[in-house]
Amino acid sequence: MNRVYNFSSGPAQLPYDVLVKAQAEMLNYNNTGMSVMEMSHRSAAYKEIIESAEKNLRTLYNISDDYAVLFLQGGASLQFTMVPMNLKKTGSADFIDSGYWSQKAIKEAKKYINVNTVCSTKDENYNSLPKFDGIDFKGDYVYMTSNNTIYGTEFKNYPKTKDIPLVADMSSDILSRKIDVNDFGIIFAGAQKNIGPSGLCVAIVRKDLIGNAAENTPIMLDYKTHSESGSMYNTPPTYGIYVAGLVFEWMLSKGGVEAFEKINAEKAALIYDFIDNSDFYKNTIPAADRSLMNIVFKTGNEDLDKKFAKDAAAKGLVSLGGHRAVGGLRASIYNAMPIEGVKALVEFMKEFELANK
Ligand SMILES: *Cc1c(COP(=O)(O)O)cnc(C)c1O
Repeated sequence: MNRVYNFSSGPAQLPYDVLVKAQAEMLNYNNTGMSVMEMSHRSAAYKEIIESAEKNLRTLYNISDDYAVLFLQGGASLQFTMVPMNLKKTGSADFIDSGYWSQKAIKEAKKYINVNTVCSTKDENYNSLPKFDGIDFKGDYVYMTSNNTIYGTEFKNYPKTKDIPLVADMSSDILSRKIDVNDFGIIFAGAQKNIGPSGLCVAIVRKDLIGNAAENTPIMLDYKTHSESGSMYNTPPTYGIYVAGLVFEWMLSKGGVEAFEKINAEKAALIYDFIDNSDFYKNTIPAADRSLMNIVFKTGNEDLDKKFAKDAAAKGLVSLGGHRAVGGLRASIYNAMPIEGVKALVEFMKEFELANK
């Protein structure tokens, strides 16, 4: 059976080389005589796996000792709860509302703090990014979603929040381009887009923000619990962390984040240039706001969009349907999507246009 090019927004395609390596090590990891899935998380072999995963992530993003790297459970969504529980001081925070995932974070944070939505593009169904320039941020932290997986928008710059910690949900663009981790208080990401299997959440947390959770915070929701125990307070998602570690290793072998930033820009440009030169496909997002990870487009005819997704799937280009909130089509092209997959998609877009114009 041939593998397809999987344009799913998440869980998403993983690097082929990573899957091959995981397959080769499945029955007998490094002469332990067992799979990583069967291995005690307290064993020497597993200790090496989790420690090298952390080390490689630190190398990829140049993460200093001022930050803890945590491997957590509950996906990205549990961070919508953990962030306010751990960062609450005065009891209010500023939120940048750029869509569905910001809205979910806002809804949850409201249970614990006063949420000030300082800017939003809700009025235009999030077809562009809210502008944060000139905002005088206040409160315990500033919250944002760096890439809007559903709408296909992505912040290329982040607000300067001075002494106020900036918290970013980077689930769908973590490790896709260079950032300075020092600009953030917390970065978190569900693994299933750019890192590995679902269920795992990677959090990069500035150490001075750890240890201030309210007394009645459940132990599993306190960053301190996980930072003190090396993400081993209880049994961590061992296999997910192992695969994430393989992905970090793979990224380093390909030249690190810098190399991916370059190729990701090339990949996205292939599709956007094609759309912009076509009068058949449309993307209405202002160029500066467009995501390099999730590219949304439409033909303007819903039935034709459905036919596109169906015909593409028959050619091995799968999961191109848009999210139900926006309809149309969406190509998610995370780090693991090779440029060949993007070229195959553009070829198909040409063919489909000719056949259905
Ligand atoms: C997918 C996604 C989430 C949700 O992640 P879960 O791991 O399913 O909780 C949150 N934020 C963004 C930006 C996402 O793309």
